[in-house]
Amino acid sequence: MDERAERYVHVLLFECSQCGGPVTWAQVSEERNLEKVDGQPVPCQCNNCGWSGSLLGLHSRQHWVEPWNGANRRSIADHDRDSGPSA
Ligand SMILES: [Zn+2]
Repeated sequence: MDERAERYVHVLLFECSQCGGPVTWAQVSEERNLEKVDGQPVPCQCNNCGWSGSLLGLHSRQHWVEPWNGANRRSIADHDRDSGPSA
C-alpha cells in the first residue's frame, strides 16, 4: 500500500465587514471535513481596506475544498469536474 495521507486545501471566501470587499483565506489540512474548519476562527486581512481580524469559517460566503497532494498529483486522473450542478 502506498497510500500517503490525503491533503486538502480549504479556501474560504468572506465579505469584509468594513468595506464589503472579498477576503480570502486558504490553508492545507489533512481534514476534508468542512465542519472542523467552519467551527474555528481564522485570521483574515482585507486587501481592499486593510481590515484584519478573525472570522469564523461558518460565516464564509463560500467554502471550497480542493485535493492537494503537493507536487505529486497523479492520483487525480482527470481534470474534468465530475461534480456537476446537482440542483
Ligand atoms: Zn475591507
